[in-house]
Formats: sequence, structure tokens, C-alpha cells
Amino acid sequence: MSTAGALTAASEALAEQEQRYLMHTYARQPVLLVRGSGTVVVDAEGREHLDMVAGIAVNVLGHSSPVVRAALESQAATLVHTSNLYYTRPQLDAAQLLVASAFAGRVFFCNSGAEANECAIKIARKWGRLHRDGAHRIVCAQGAFHGRTLATLAATGQARYLEPFAPTVDGFTHVAFDDADAVAAALDVDHVAVLVEPIQGESGIHVMGDGTLRRIRELCDERDALLILDEVQSGMGRSGRFWAHQHAGITPDVMTVAKGLGGGVPIGAVLAAPRADVLEPGDHGCTFGGSPLAAAVAAAVLRSVLEDDLPEAAARRGEQLREALLGLRDDGLPIIEVRGRGLMLAVVLDGDLAQQAARAGLHHGVIVNPIGTRVLRLVPPLTITAGEVDEAVRRLGLALRDAATEAAPPPAP
Ligand code: PLP
Repeated sequence: MSTAGALTAASEALAEQEQRYLMHTYARQPVLLVRGSGTVVVDAEGREHLDMVAGIAVNVLGHSSPVVRAALESQAATLVHTSNLYYTRPQLDAAQLLVASAFAGRVFFCNSGAEANECAIKIARKWGRLHRDGAHRIVCAQGAFHGRTLATLAATGQARYLEPFAPTVDGFTHVAFDDADAVAAALDVDHVAVLVEPIQGESGIHVMGDGTLRRIRELCDERDALLILDEVQSGMGRSGRFWAHQHAGITPDVMTVAKGLGGGVPIGAVLAAPRADVLEPGDHGCTFGGSPLAAAVAAAVLRSVLEDDLPEAAARRGEQLREALLGLRDDGLPIIEVRGRGLMLAVVLDGDLAQQAARAGLHHGVIVNPIGTRVLRLVPPLTITAGEVDEAVRRLGLALRDAATEAAPPPAP
């Protein structure tokens, strides 16, 4: 029996149940995860895996973090939900910490990355009405990912996500990623904003050059446009700075945040600098946005990232991870390149091995995320230890060896 991808009887039963009760929107790995602690998750058969995906860059403090648990438990015992018709202390605290971590401005809370970007798009459109004679188009990047609502899908701009849901929301122009000249050519009188990820995640981890980001900032200033940065995946310390744009020494007018903000509890946010702070009562809202429960956790996570200097830890562990992965390449494993920043890395494989490698990883006790056929994404908890980095890479090496062996043509008879 092949090791990579072998479904156990238990996971076949799961697949059957999924078939019956869940919409088929995900290609799931054949494993039932039941509990976790730190970087380790345990499956239903009691096997431990080092989780290098962390809920797709969500569990920044690891699984079942004491920080997240304490905030959840104490807030759950106090006040879970009130709506935004009233003040609540956790939301005020979380907003204050978010501003302190980034730039002066004010915060709107929502539940997800897509909702945060939807809000940012509405800000740009309203700002265009007020300041730019109704200009409303937004320059975005090819390969972007901004979410699954109709407007954020249009900003994402990838035909395979968009076409089944036509007619699409109008108003987005896509140019090459990491290309300030292309932004300069597109940013005309009809365009009111540039919306980009400082590090693209879903496209397979592509880092925008600091010089490009600085030039885009200048272009937005010169042409009176807003710079909106989607830090949903790259933020919360993952890149080695609290926010990935801080590597370039600039600040955006609007920043969107989600994923790691709640350390596993759903919460999103939009931070708008005074220049872009145009929403008024009635313009926008969100029943659950910034609920006491989610906001208390976000405040605790923000404090922890700051006080434990997790951006610095991400930079250090990220360098160690990169070096160790390159070591696998030197050992002859099919790796072409390791790219990314901090603990947001992609392993580019020499061959269509990503799916097999991820399955084989489950066999060897390491969870990685295949993107397409040739890329493995690694976005582990920022609390990963040096020993766990070494062990995860050792296990990934075994998985890659299995995947390469499986893919190799059989020996000639
Ligand atoms: N923006 C970026 C950069 C993302 O990576 C994602 C999700 O992967 C989103 C937005 C959408 O976030 P959500 O799935 O929370 O709606």
C-alpha cells in the first residue's frame, strides 16, 4: 500500500459523512483533527502532527494557547455579545492596541478577511465620491486574493473563482504584482485607490519588494489616491515585523486584518487613517463585528504578540526554517526555491509533487498546505520552537522523499 494518501477506514467513513451532509466546497486532507496544543495537533487515531499550516496563518499563538483560552473563558463568563448599539470595553481595548501596533487611525470590526476588504472597498468608493468626483475604480494585483464575497472576488480577479458567479462587480483593474510602473500606468483619474497584499499568500507566497511598495505609496500621494493594504495573511507579526508593510517604512491609508488577529477566534478589522476615515453612522455595520468575546481575545492576542515580541521570533524561526529547507535541497530533495518572509514561506518543488507531499506529510506527522501542483505553503504558529522547526523539516524531508519515489516512473523491466 502506498504511504502517501492512503485513506484509513476511519477517514473513509468521514468522507462518506461529508458526502452526505457538507457542501463540497473544500478539498480536505484525509485526517480528522481532534485536539491541539502549541504547534502540535492530534488526529482521531492519536497521531501527533507538527502543524505548519496553523489554520492557514490563523493560530499565531499555537493551538489551545493559554492566552486565547484565558481570554475566552473569562469573557465568556462575563459578556459574550451585545451588538454594536452599545459600548463594550474589549472592543475599545482591541482597537487601541491595533492602532498602537500600526498607525494613527480608527478601527471598524467585522468577522473575516473578506468582510474587512469589503469594508475597505466601500471606504474607497465613498472617498472617491467625496474627494475625487465620483471616481471609484481600484487598482489590484494579478494573483491577488481578497476574499469570496462578490466584491472581494472581483478584487481578487481570478477567472476560476469569478466566472461561475457572473455578473461580476465592476470597478477593479488588475496589473502585474510587484510592478510599480504597471500601477503608475493604471492609476488614472478613474482610479481612486490601490489595493494590494504586501505579501501574496494564496498565489503561493510572493513578497512585494520594499522599493515597489514605497513607490506605490508615492504614486498614491502624487495622484490623490488611497493605498489600501490587505494584511489579512501577512500581518500580526508573521513577516518578521508586526505588519509586513513596516519592512518598507511606509504606512497605508487603509489596512485590512483578520486571520491571526483572533488567534483562532473569528474577527476581522479595518484600520483607516484620518484621511480615509469617511464612514458615518448608517454607512456600514456588522452584527457580530467586534463582539465582546472576539474582541477580548483579539486584545489578548495583540498584547501577547507585542509583549513576547513574536515578530522578532517569526524573523528568527523563519530564517532557521528557510535554511533547513534549503538544506533538504542540498541533500538532493526536489526543491527549487524557498521564498517568502519570516514565517510565511513557500517551498517550490521540482515537479508536480505538492499534493503527494502533503499527503505523505500526514503519514510522517507534518501538516503542510499544497498550493496548486508545485508549491507547499508553510505558515506555522509564531510560537514554534527551534526544535519543532528542525523536526518539521526532518519529517517534510521524509514526505518529499516518499512523494518523489511515488512519482518516479517504475524501473524498466
Ligand atoms: N485576504 C487575504 C490576503 C487572504 O489570504 C484571505 C484568506 O485567505 C482573505 C483576504 C479572506 O479572508 P477570509 O477567508 O477570512 O474571508
